[in-house]
Formats: sequence, structure tokens, C-alpha cells
Amino acid sequence: MPIQRVDQIGLKGERVFVRVDYNVPLNEKREITDDTRIVASLQTVHYICSAGGKVILASHLGRPKGKKDPKYSLAPVAERLSLLLNKKVLMATDCIGEEVKAQIESMKEGEILLLENLRFYPEEEKNEASFSKALASLCDVYINDAFGAAHRAHASTEGMTHYVRKVGAGFLMMKEIESLEKALVHPKRPYLAILGGAKVSDKIGVIRNLINKVDTLLIGGGMAYTFLKANGIEVGKSLVEMDQIEFSRSLLNEARSKIKLILPSDHVAAEKMDLEAQRKIVKNNDIPADWICLDIGPETIQTFCKEISSALTLFWNGPMGVFEMEPFSHGTFAIARAVAESPAFTIVGGGDSVAAVNQAGVAEKINHISTGGGASLEFIEGKTLPGIEALRK
Ligand code: AMP
Repeated sequence: MPIQRVDQIGLKGERVFVRVDYNVPLNEKREITDDTRIVASLQTVHYICSAGGKVILASHLGRPKGKKDPKYSLAPVAERLSLLLNKKVLMATDCIGEEVKAQIESMKEGEILLLENLRFYPEEEKNEASFSKALASLCDVYINDAFGAAHRAHASTEGMTHYVRKVGAGFLMMKEIESLEKALVHPKRPYLAILGGAKVSDKIGVIRNLINKVDTLLIGGGMAYTFLKANGIEVGKSLVEMDQIEFSRSLLNEARSKIKLILPSDHVAAEKMDLEAQRKIVKNNDIPADWICLDIGPETIQTFCKEISSALTLFWNGPMGVFEMEPFSHGTFAIARAVAESPAFTIVGGGDSVAAVNQAGVAEKINHISTGGGASLEFIEGKTLPGIEALRK
């Protein structure tokens, strides 16, 4: 079933529940340090207001572990949203219950209410029917605009959709689905994926799946060392997951007959993971036994950039090195710039790679920046996402 977008649903006078992703970073003073996710929701919120709906926003924030903890209140988000919209945003005392219902009862068309943190209730993550029904009783229409949470079957992303008559996707969610489908269903070839980040074990599923989909797979970051080790290369003290060596070896064998899988050929190695540590560029066969590789080297950058420049579909997840530390950030930023210049339809997903394209100042040149790291990986893996499937009715 096709998914209905928010602007294809009658909203006038309706109570419209919108699952948003307001899981924003806060500092010790509980100030929002990055409001990207709030800004990303504005189009949908504006639209519902202008269509005469009563907007009921709901999100989780942090990990309050199923308890009401003021530290995880969404109140700072309501304030920021008010500023961004130049309009009052009411803050609810809770996310379910009679008091909230009464607040919604008194709302006028075009007004906005932000519910309190959904994860103050353990039933949210457990997807309990009673909690789903309590949420559903607040609204006439359900809209999901939280792609970042769509790979989880929680009450607010999946459960409650069974008890609401009209369901659909917000603009942000729809753009995610359309962009990722473009890469997944009929990708223009060559189709290139770049995977980095710390752990192989986190991305096993996606790697296995991509071998049957992409033409070329570039592997960098910490996860490359488990593969290099599986190839018989001594990687010193670099990050290796010993229990993934066998899997990595079989994957390399499988990949060999199907696609071009490229691992780093040189590295920025350091005596330890420290800004002041001695460092040098080393080739695969010269990694000192007690050194640690923390970034891809210039030769690898060149090889990777060449592939990137000839791709027509490109998906990138995970940094090429410890890019949080300047001496080990060059590989990741070089890849970010190359991805931006590539003629491919480019998708970047995952917090670190998104941060890298932002820091490199090239975000505007990326075709689609996914708001959900885990969700975009699962989508690319070919898994069905419960939060998206729930909208197909
Ligand atoms: P992930 O969450 O799996 O995408 O991993 C991101 C983290 O991987 C970042 O914090 C990087 O610092 C880290 N990382 C990338 N390359 C390396 C490396 N060569 N050694 C250790 N950590 C790395």
C-alpha cells in the first residue's frame, strides 16, 4: 500500500498526533546544543497548522529508563520550537492521561502542544497495547515524521497506528523513504557504498547485504582492521574484533567473486591515541607492532576518491578515522569533500558522517542527508522498518 503524505489527509479541525524526533543534544545547563532535528520538523508542523489541524507533538529524549525524570523533560524543546516558529508552543504535563486530554480538548485549530517525554513510560519501548491505546485516544490522525526511530517497533512508532483511523507520513519521513528507495530499488550504476566507523559487529548485516547490491564497497575506519587482519596483515594495536575475523574472511571471499571490495592500503599510525603522540604514514605491510592506525592514509584517500568520482549512486555511513581528533580527521574530511563533488546521487547517513559533511562545509552538496543512522542502515540492508510498514494501511 502506498503511504499517504500529511498533505494528502484531511486535517481541518482534527487532533493530529505527530511523532517527531526531538532527541536533541543538551549541555549540563540543559541548553540545546544542536537544534537540527527541531528545524527539520518545521515544514510538517507549519503545514498542519495552516491546514487547520491541532498539532500534538510527541518524542523521546535521552534515556530516562521508564521513569519521570525532569532531567529528560522536553520543556527546553518547546521553548526552542516557539522561538523558531515565532508562535506559542504549549508544554504538556505528561504524554498520556486525563490532564493531557483536557489540554487537547481546549486547543484551537492551528495550536501546538508538545507532549512530555514518551520514554517516561517503559511501556513505550515495550510497545504495550494499553499505552498505544492511551496515545491513540489523544488524536484523530497519526503522522510519523521521525525516521530516526522508524526501525524500532515502539508504541509511538508502531503500536498506536493500529488504533488510529487516519495515518500517514510527514514531509521529512517521506523524503527519507523516497531518497533511500531511489538508492535501494533501482540504483543507477556504478553503485558505491562507503562504510566506516568503529565496529564490524555493528554492521555485519549491512555488509552482507550490500555485497549483493553494490558494485563497489569501500571499507575504512576502525572496522577495516578486522578485515585487514583477516587478510593476514599485521595491524599492530589497531582496533580488531577477534571474534569477527572468521566472518570477515568468509565475507571477503564471497565479495571477491561478486563486487569490488577495497580496503585501505596505507594509514596514519600513531604511538597512541593522543593528539601529541608521534605519528607517521605507513603502508599495510609496515604497521609497527605497538602502534595504532587511526586514519586512512593519502594513497587510500586517492584510491577511494577515484571510485567516488565515477559512482552514480553512493551511500556513506561511518567515519574513515578518529575524526574527532584533528590529526586523524583528514581521511574523513577528504571523503566528505569527494562525496560532495561526486556526480552520483549521494546519501549520507549516521551521526558521525553527517557531522563530517557539516564540518567540511559541504552538506548542501549532498543529495540526501539521512536523519537516522541506524534506520538508514537497516533500510539499505533491505529490512522492513516497522515504523514505515505501519504507515502502509
Ligand atoms: P560508529 O559509531 O561505529 O560509526 O563509529 C564511529 C567512531 O569510530 C568514531 O567515534 C571514530 O572515532 C571511531 N573510529 C573511526 N576510525 C577509527 C580507528 N581507526 N580506530 C578507532 N576508532 C575509530
